[in-house]
Amino acid sequence: LDDTLPLVIIGTGLAGYHLAKEFRKLDQRTPLTLITGDDGTFYSKPLLSASLAHGKTPQQLATASAEDMARELNAEILVHTHVTNLDRDAKLLSLVSDGGISAELPYGRLVFATGANCTPLPPMEGNGMSRLFRVNNLSDYHRFRTALANRKRVLLIGAGLIGCEFANDLIQAGYSVGVVDVQAWPLATLLPEAAGRDIQNALEQAGVRFHFGAGVTKLEQHAGGIRAQLADGSVIEADLALAALGLKPNVGLAESAGLAIKRGIVTNRALQTSDADIFALGDCAEVDGHNLFFVAPLTQSARALAQTLAGTSAEVQYGTLPVAVKTTLRPTVVCPPRAGSFVEGTADWKVTKLEDGIVAEFLSNDGQLLGFALTGSGIAQRDSLSKRCPPLME
Ligand code: FAD
Repeated sequence: LDDTLPLVIIGTGLAGYHLAKEFRKLDQRTPLTLITGDDGTFYSKPLLSASLAHGKTPQQLATASAEDMARELNAEILVHTHVTNLDRDAKLLSLVSDGGISAELPYGRLVFATGANCTPLPPMEGNGMSRLFRVNNLSDYHRFRTALANRKRVLLIGAGLIGCEFANDLIQAGYSVGVVDVQAWPLATLLPEAAGRDIQNALEQAGVRFHFGAGVTKLEQHAGGIRAQLADGSVIEADLALAALGLKPNVGLAESAGLAIKRGIVTNRALQTSDADIFALGDCAEVDGHNLFFVAPLTQSARALAQTLAGTSAEVQYGTLPVAVKTTLRPTVVCPPRAGSFVEGTADWKVTKLEDGIVAEFLSNDGQLLGFALTGSGIAQRDSLSKRCPPLME
């Protein structure tokens, strides 16, 4: 390997920056280049859905600028620069900057840390799209916060994990909050009904209004705000809308370069893709079948991959990874069962109601704990239940 060629990381989210930091602990010599389509600010993405109530500006969420990071990492960081093509035979990247300047960059080894984007919106009629927001990065947060100034009523589309966190945050920031979802209860893909309703009750007591079982079919401008029409005929008026409908890994570039893709960029436990010199981690990666949109797996991946890139092969081994949902009005922890760990109909939720919370265990017919969901005082059982769950990777 020609070690004058840089290690190139595409992406300066938590995955890209964590990897760069871990790598520099082990190797101070190899040239390191990071490329990002955004401005390269280092920030904690989970704070985006828990900072409005604290009045946090985008500047306050920024931990370090790209310039600071370049110095700290002894790296070159190309900001506002998009990788538009990957030639694997020539080991060459094509770049285009926001200013329209094209360039080429050779790499020794390459890492995809390209993250995930909001899933495409379902088809919606109407002229209200200019008042529909999505928040998946710091500049989205800036746009949304600016739009909220002098406004009062927010319609949230999507009552999943991020939608509920935003409802929790916006209501405590003093906004009037309505939430719509096609599902029947909050976090319906992760929680049994009893746990979802428990979160719903806590948010409703704080003033959030939920509307389940129908999606938005039309979004129109109306009286300086918007009017949303739902599939069941009901109408909700608000000043602006925020959609939180899930995430989709950014795999376009890897796919057109011919790398193996399933849901994410396919890697083995060493984070290596179908090309031996190309690796992937974070939201864009599907690591030995697991495509997880959380911080814990990417920090573990960053540590293992840094070792491999510094010359000592290492693999990740995900244990159980419970996730804290930042609905502070009703603290919640979810640990979904591993995909494929049971056959439909051979496992079910067992729900225990506590005085002020829920313990829901997802049990196989023969009594093995496969996953769990905890709300309120139930979250105290997080560690004991985690120990009884099988790890994600054996
Ligand atoms: P990203 O942060 O998406 O970074 C992707 C990077 O790739 C960006 O720098 C982008 O510019 C760059 N990029 C992509 N394509 C190109 C290209 N072609 N050329 C150049 N650059 C490119 N997880 C938790 O564990 N706990 C939580 O409480 C939690 N809360 C969350 C709340 C919200 C609102 C959101 C959106 C996510 C939350 N998550 C949470 C998930 C967690 O934040 C993500 O798993 C993590 O931040 C993903 O980091 P990443 O680096 O993989 O991707």
